[in-house]
Amino acid sequence: MRIAIAGCGQLARMLAIAGWEMGHHFSFIADPGESTDCVNGLGPVVVRHDNQTPADLYEALGYPDVLTVEKEHVSVPMLEGLSDHCLVAPSAEAIRICQHRGREKTLLQSLGIETAPFHLVDDAPSLVDAVTAVGYPAFVKSCEQGYDGQNQWRLRDSAALEALAPQMHALPPLVVEGAVHFDRELSMIAARSVSGEVALYPLAENRHREGILLTSEVPAAEVSAETEAQATQIAHRLLEHWSYVGVLSIELFDEGGSLRVNELAPRVHNSGHWSQDAGVASQFSNHIRAITDTRPGATQPSCYAGMLNLLGRTPDTALLQADDVSLHWYTKSVRSRRKVGHLNVQAPDREQLKKRLSELEAALYPEGEPL
Ligand code: AMP
Repeated sequence: MRIAIAGCGQLARMLAIAGWEMGHHFSFIADPGESTDCVNGLGPVVVRHDNQTPADLYEALGYPDVLTVEKEHVSVPMLEGLSDHCLVAPSAEAIRICQHRGREKTLLQSLGIETAPFHLVDDAPSLVDAVTAVGYPAFVKSCEQGYDGQNQWRLRDSAALEALAPQMHALPPLVVEGAVHFDRELSMIAARSVSGEVALYPLAENRHREGILLTSEVPAAEVSAETEAQATQIAHRLLEHWSYVGVLSIELFDEGGSLRVNELAPRVHNSGHWSQDAGVASQFSNHIRAITDTRPGATQPSCYAGMLNLLGRTPDTALLQADDVSLHWYTKSVRSRRKVGHLNVQAPDREQLKKRLSELEAALYPEGEPL
């Protein structure tokens, strides 16, 4: 099939590499000025411009059978226009909801899925009321364009609120969340095919540094049957609500075994990269399978698997001379804090996995060194 991907970053790269193996052909949509290094050699790139009609874009992309996305910040009118020409998966509507924290949280609430307590605000008095209602610390996040901890403020006390209030006129619509006192952060990667077949990966346990994902491990330790069932129910509810097609990623807070959704991503996710080397169908393969109406492949690894992000770091060769480590390099230039690649590791037991991840982490990020 011919598959077009909106976006030219590392997720587009890994989707195309997985799809090439199955004989699919790719083209990519770049926003003006977007770097296309990651998808070099993987198919033609079309730069979007304002005067383009959906028919022009469809033609320039080589008449794809399916259009998919590697990021949620994609023009919804563009997706709607292209859906007159080909399958758009996930749908423009699912992407529209996930682009906006307010819409996303409102949907989760309407589906009976737990989130942090939240209020939507767009002026200074409602900000003060919302923070007063949720108490300190309060998390204030812009509804749009926030990721990896950007465009959000953690207010510890009323002085921090007073410092933010005068900027309100320049701030975008916000969601104010009460703090969740979670024990750990988990995520679930789910896939649903055009025909409605669903596959779920085991819950991953995620660790962040400076607001950016650093490691993921699967399966998450000590997950009770109730917690597993809650995660499964959340995934099914969302997938069925949208008749979703493709991979949906669900970021979760685990508070004593009870889950709340922090955020959704209508795409493959950094916390699912371990799946490339764990003897299962990777999240990239399963996304391509789902959107081409092929039954999802196996998602339950028989080993313990982990991923360590390369954040502004190139690993030296010695680190890669180990038979349990695989390098995935995105062919980007290296800059501080930038995701430029990741290492996947497999181990026969959890202790060994943790040991290997901490050895790799210590080698790449010596104590106290900033990202
Ligand atoms: P986000 O950009 O929403 O994924 O938030 C980035 C990180 O901030 C999360 O991974 C959490 O560690 C933390 N965080 C966000 N919202 C909350 C909350 N309501 N309560 C506690 N921690 C939070």
